[in-house]
Amino acid sequence: MKRKIIIAFSVCSLIFILSGLFIITTIEKSTAKLDILIRLHRVEILREQLLIRIKRAQSDLNLWNTRHARSMDAVVTDVRTMDSALDACFNCHHGESVMRRLTNLRNQNEQYKNALSRVFTLRANRSRMRAEENVAFMAGADLIAEVGAITNMTDRNLQERTRSTLKEIARTKTVISLLLAAVPLIALGLFGVFLRGFTKPVGALLIATRRLKAGELSYRIEGLKDEFGEVAASFNDMAFTLREHYMKMQWAEQAIVLGEMAGGLAHEINNPLAGIKAAMEVLSGDPTVSEENKNLPSQVIEQVRRIEVLLKSLLNFARPPKPQFMSVDLNEVLDAAISLAKKHPLFLSNSSLSIKIVQDFAARLPQTKADPFQLQQVFLNLLLNAADAMPAGGAITVRTSYSARSPLLSISILDTGKGLGGDVIDKIFLPFFTTKPKGTGLGLALAKRLVEQHGGGILAVNNPAGGASFVVTLPLLEGDGGTGT
Ligand code: ADP
Repeated sequence: MKRKIIIAFSVCSLIFILSGLFIITTIEKSTAKLDILIRLHRVEILREQLLIRIKRAQSDLNLWNTRHARSMDAVVTDVRTMDSALDACFNCHHGESVMRRLTNLRNQNEQYKNALSRVFTLRANRSRMRAEENVAFMAGADLIAEVGAITNMTDRNLQERTRSTLKEIARTKTVISLLLAAVPLIALGLFGVFLRGFTKPVGALLIATRRLKAGELSYRIEGLKDEFGEVAASFNDMAFTLREHYMKMQWAEQAIVLGEMAGGLAHEINNPLAGIKAAMEVLSGDPTVSEENKNLPSQVIEQVRRIEVLLKSLLNFARPPKPQFMSVDLNEVLDAAISLAKKHPLFLSNSSLSIKIVQDFAARLPQTKADPFQLQQVFLNLLLNAADAMPAGGAITVRTSYSARSPLLSISILDTGKGLGGDVIDKIFLPFFTTKPKGTGLGLALAKRLVEQHGGGILAVNNPAGGASFVVTLPLLEGDGGTGT
């Protein structure tokens, strides 16, 4: 995120600096062009003034010695102005051909001035005077023609130049206007993108926090990157740990409540149940019971037996017997559990005949310290649950494994059944959670309790290819590194 902020600010600054530089240079260029144009127009005016002065000198020449002639001072002033107008031309033009032409013009001007001077100062006979006047007039006419020719030529160039400069200025104006409109838009767009990149992850984090607050402990944040990704990962870890703690607390709380309840209840219920069972057994042997009611006592006894089994499981779960620890080979315990399972009606019934048990045992599995009968009960429960989950048959793989790098043995029971639904997987180890019509919901809760009594753990996952897997981990017998797989 920090990198993104720096990049966004650098891009914005670069855009502003480049646009500023572009605007300044284009304005400077346009001003320089306008400056040249103004100077050229000023020269144009000077040329016009020169032409006017020459024409006035010609008129003075014509009116000389008439009553309309101007004073000598006025004539001299005009002629001097011609000089200054020409000098100004030299200040501006630098091209070689133009300079040559201007030098010619100055020479012509000098000749004209000399001719004028002779006319205005000479005292000679009439024919000489007339000849001098003609010379001066012709020089003036030549000068007018030359200035006119230069004016015509520069006029065309100037018009062309003015047109192109104005066009260029108009173009520059459009570019600057577009730039001035586009730069804030680009900055706004960049700001929008940046803001979105900031608010989106913050929004995701906010939603996640709210959902966590509402008790959705399995909610996780996905798809965030950079620092937000790190925050999301920490959040996910926190949610995971929170969920683990919550489950453990829930589990412990239920176990305590159940323990207290079950002890009292079992005693209270067991005695009347024994009485009912004894009465029913007596009743079933009574010859006076009618034929249609003969089955009733055995049905009641059957139901009483179910209650007894439930009470036993409840007591087992609430106050599990202390494990009798001894050195145990888990492969042997599993063998015994599998033999027992195979005798269960679930494996014997016609519909389940196709259930196959695959034993994938690690050779020379290290020993563990455990109560073999309690573990047998755990594995039997898991095997019967697996068979229950495959009403149309399938395969159960029982695998044991061990890694030299781990202090734990692992026992996996994989089935090819219906698997665990998203809402089920979180609750299966809770007491009384069942999806079976005749289930008690105590099998897995008891299994977990017994495994934890052994310092191990149990977890359930769905297999990628379908079905569920229950993985039991148990600690190795201290000092037994085994050879393992
Ligand atoms: P019960 O078997 O009496 O229902 P358990 O505690 O043994 O109680 O199991 C709880 C629930 O877990 C079952 O009702 C079932 O929905 C689910 N379950 C257990 N094992 C499996 C399995 N191998 N495949 C699918 N669901 C299972």
